[in-house]
Amino acid sequence: MGEFELIRHYFAAAACARVGGDVVLGIGDDCALLAIPEGEQLAISTDSLVAGVHFPDPCDAALLAQRALAVSTSDLAAMGATPIGFTLALTLPSATSTWLAAFAGGLEAMAARCNMRLIGGDTTRGPLSITVTVFGRVPTGQALLRHGACAGDLLCVGGELGAAAGALPLVLGEREGDTAEASQLLDHYWTPQPQLALGQALRGKATAALDISDGLLADSGHIAAASGVRLCIEQDRVPLSDALVQWVGQARALQCGLTGGDDYVLAFTLPAGELSGLLADGWPVRVIGHVEAGEGVRLVDAEGQSLPIASQGYNHFSA
Ligand code: ADP
Ligand code: MG
Repeated sequence: MGEFELIRHYFAAAACARVGGDVVLGIGDDCALLAIPEGEQLAISTDSLVAGVHFPDPCDAALLAQRALAVSTSDLAAMGATPIGFTLALTLPSATSTWLAAFAGGLEAMAARCNMRLIGGDTTRGPLSITVTVFGRVPTGQALLRHGACAGDLLCVGGELGAAAGALPLVLGEREGDTAEASQLLDHYWTPQPQLALGQALRGKATAALDISDGLLADSGHIAAASGVRLCIEQDRVPLSDALVQWVGQARALQCGLTGGDDYVLAFTLPAGELSGLLADGWPVRVIGHVEAGEGVRLVDAEGQSLPIASQGYNHFSA
């Protein structure tokens, strides 16, 4: 199958590639065309997943596609943006129909979940890698940025942390497991659920936000640096799933929750007065600390005593 036939068969013909919504022109021309409503701004983000770096090779193609799209779409959630569509730059060592069919199926499933449309891409031969660029829209001036956190705000997360990191030994085949806990953790790793609705609900409320991709401590450091404040995290309030604790034990679960990446849960700062309204509306807001004057991130125990921070998270080019 040639390049153009491949694009036509697996991608242009996919249900998620149909035009509609804000997508005026999709796959097939030199560019896609988007109609951005008056009073809104375009939000754009791109993420690459490289075989052997971001995922094991070989792996399940359907899960890989879901994860690639979810990881990128999570950045739209973190900005409070409404999804429009995405492009897919796919580099493949060879074009196998079973692999492509599974990949396209996974893409379709996550696109439907996130209300995303495939609007274009690029297809090349080489070592397996996937780059997804996402496009969303947000009312002008209402995007959730990293730099608005103020001393006195609460520090919150949108759900349990550490599950994806807890799944890593399973993903890499270093540990076997067919228990309910193991499969729950694997789901977190392969099919993260971008918190799009929560992000949109936080518009005009959260003072700063991001999605946790590199670990709570490391990503909290990004909000602290951008906002010129210190984030204080209460170790005992970091939410950990029962499955994670049962699978790796309390101590390792906490380590996963603090420094493990890949959860794609939102972390955000909130003026204290906004909390009750969000909770009353049923949003999964978990307070884990607060913002104070200073810089960096402080981890404290239940008595407020500072705890040592051993490792901050994943960094591709650290020494
Ligand atoms: P060009 O040479 O003008 O860049 P291509 O031949 O690369 O165009 O692609 C033809 C059309 O197919 C374009 O609309 C492009 O966006 C789309 N396309 C290419 N690869 C993919 C892909 N993997 N997924 C979705 N659309 C794709
Ligand atoms: Mg091209």
